[in-house]
Amino acid sequence: MRRALTLGTLLLIGGMTMVVAAQQPAARATLPDLQKVKDNLYIIAASSPVDRSQFTGGNTGVFVMDTGVVVVDTKLAGYGSDILAKIRKVTDKPVTTIINTHTHGDHTGSNEGFPATIDFVAQENTKANMARMDAFKGDKAQFLPKRTYQDKLSLFSGKDRIDLYYFGAGHTNGDTWVVYPALRVLQAGDMFAWKDAPLCDRANGGSGVAFPKTLAKAIATIKDVDTIIPGHSPLMAPKDLQEYQRFAADLLSATESAKKAGKSSADAAASINLTAKYPDYKSDRVKAAVEAIYAEIDGK
Ligand SMILES: [Zn+2]
Repeated sequence: MRRALTLGTLLLIGGMTMVVAAQQPAARATLPDLQKVKDNLYIIAASSPVDRSQFTGGNTGVFVMDTGVVVVDTKLAGYGSDILAKIRKVTDKPVTTIINTHTHGDHTGSNEGFPATIDFVAQENTKANMARMDAFKGDKAQFLPKRTYQDKLSLFSGKDRIDLYYFGAGHTNGDTWVVYPALRVLQAGDMFAWKDAPLCDRANGGSGVAFPKTLAKAIATIKDVDTIIPGHSPLMAPKDLQEYQRFAADLLSATESAKKAGKSSADAAASINLTAKYPDYKSDRVKAAVEAIYAEIDGK
C-alpha cells in the first residue's frame, strides 16, 4: 500500500514537471526595455521566432493612461513579472486592462502572470479559441477574456480612447486591430506580422482567401494613423500595410492561377516568386501559405 502510494506520488510529480516544462520557453530569454512609440505609448519589442531560444513572443503594447496601464498582448507564458518590471521603469500605475489581439500563445501566454481581477478583452471568436487551449483550462479560465465584442468596441475616453476593430478572417477568425486615435497609432497584431507570406491558422478560423479582403477593409476604415505596430516586426508606416495588402492579394491570385493550371501545392509554391515586385519581402513562409490556401479552396 505504502509502496503504491509512493509510486503514485512520484508519477504525479513527474507529470507536473512535464506540464511545467511544456509551458515554459526552452531557455528564458531577456525582454528588451520599453521602446517609446509616442508620448504615453510604448512597446516591449518582439524577438525573432527564427531563433526559438531567444523567442519571447510578439510585440507587446504598453499604453499609460491617467487611471492605469493597458497591455496589448502578453508574449509567451512565464514573462508576466518581466513585463511588469519593464512597465515599472516608466510608471507606478496599475495594469488595469489586457487586450489580446488573437488566441496564439505568443500573444496570450503571460495573461496568467497578471492578477485575475484585470479586465481581459478580446474579440468574441478569440475568446472561444482561447477557451479551447490547454493553457486556459481549469483554474486558468480566470485569465480568459471577460469582455468581448463582435465588430467594434471603444474603451476609455478623450486622449485615452482605444478603438478595437474586427474586420474578418485572416490570421485567425478573431484578430483585433487596436487603434490609439489620439496618437495616430495602429497595433495590427498578426494581421500584419512581418514582410513575408501571412500565417493562416485554419484550425483557429484563419483564411488566406479572405486575408487580402480583410486587410483592405482595415485600410479603408482606419484612416487617421501614421505609425503601425506589427505583430512581430519593428514599427512600420501605413504605406507598409498597404504594400502588405497588395502582396497578400498577389500571393492569393498567383496561388489560385497555379491551382487552376493543375499544379500541386509544392509546385505552385516553388513557381511563385514575388520578390521582384516586393524586394523587401522574405519567402520563408510562402510554401506554408500556399498549402493553406490550397486546402482552403479544396474545403479541407
Ligand atoms: Zn499569431
